[in-house]
Amino acid sequence: MTIAERERDAFFHTYKRLPLDIDRGEGVYLFDKSGNRYLDLFGGLAVNALGYAHPGVVRAIHEQSKRFIHLSNYFVTDAALELAELLRKHTGFAKVFFSNSGTEGIEGAIKIARLWGSTREKTEIVSFTNAFHGRTYGALSMMDRVKYRSGFEPFLGNFSILPFNDPAALNLSDGTLAVFLEFIQGEGGIVPASEEFVAAIAGLQRRHGFLVVADEIQSGIGRTGRPFAFSHYDISPDIAVVAKPLGGGLPIGAILGSAAVADVLDIGRHGTTFGGNPVSCAAGIVVMKEIFESGLMRNAETSGTYFMKGLGDLREAFPSLVSAVRGKGLMIGVELRRPCDAVVAEMLRGGVLANCTNQNVIRIVPPLIITKEQIDEALRVMRSVFARLT
Ligand code: PLP
Repeated sequence: MTIAERERDAFFHTYKRLPLDIDRGEGVYLFDKSGNRYLDLFGGLAVNALGYAHPGVVRAIHEQSKRFIHLSNYFVTDAALELAELLRKHTGFAKVFFSNSGTEGIEGAIKIARLWGSTREKTEIVSFTNAFHGRTYGALSMMDRVKYRSGFEPFLGNFSILPFNDPAALNLSDGTLAVFLEFIQGEGGIVPASEEFVAAIAGLQRRHGFLVVADEIQSGIGRTGRPFAFSHYDISPDIAVVAKPLGGGLPIGAILGSAAVADVLDIGRHGTTFGGNPVSCAAGIVVMKEIFESGLMRNAETSGTYFMKGLGDLREAFPSLVSAVRGKGLMIGVELRRPCDAVVAEMLRGGVLANCTNQNVIRIVPPLIITKEQIDEALRVMRSVFARLT
């Protein structure tokens, strides 16, 4: 049986897999079992910020595994503590709760918000069209796209979904408990919130006193050239949820809370068996230090600017194919005037891996270690694919 046949037999059919049989990764490259090399602009869906087989991550995982892999949250481990302290130091948030994934972080944030609102007569949780917050019920209750929701009804009550990037439609009041927001929508097609939209939310927050919760699961921890996507705007969220890059490829998420919510949770109110796993945290310490203390966040900014410039040139060269290039740092979307599946498949044949999101947006979220030479390599392949398909 081929791998594809075994896959069809073994799994629920939830994923459309790529036709690749990967053997190993190194830096920004993946290698298949026939020895072909792929430049990875997809980065394990924005997870592999330090690339593949980063020696520091590998060493940290190995060293921690020799001591203990799991203890339970009856213990505080030095790895979890150091990672929490690094998160506080580099983000300015006051408190940390470790989850296992992004969507679990979102669920925890909903619980913190509800508890905070329970003594304040605030009940309504607001989110926005085209958002992606995860696959659990709280997260799905904040999402409008049919492809994620259809058939899973009913969803949770007291959630409303307002139009994204429409300041005039911000129907918020004293009853609003929290506003959940991706400052750059990821799955939705790499769409940044507009300055006016965020300014309107910040103004209404001052008037009505609701919480602002930033979903930074895809955009956070330096990818956009700043600590968070919200760092590009004049707003201070009360809670941020991070996940993807934090564990160097191991599963971990974190809810980061400001002083406003620091005392909401007390003993036994929230918990998890695996969250804050010491091996994930040991890897996370390396990730945080590389991004915030060894210049990777700066590289995300300079490489991102360089990449955007090259992609802007492609847009000018192929206006009938490319309608927009947008994003911040190394979170970039190339919007096409047609579905991007075929384009991404051709790029793969040319040795460059990218992901197609929202049907017509090529999503570029490479490891933050990517160099200008590697960006040039990607641009060369994209140019020749665009020329062929125009
Ligand atoms: N929020 C955003 C913005 C995401 O991009 C994702 C995943 O793609 C999630 C939430 C869900 O995270 P996870 O898949 O780790 O549950």
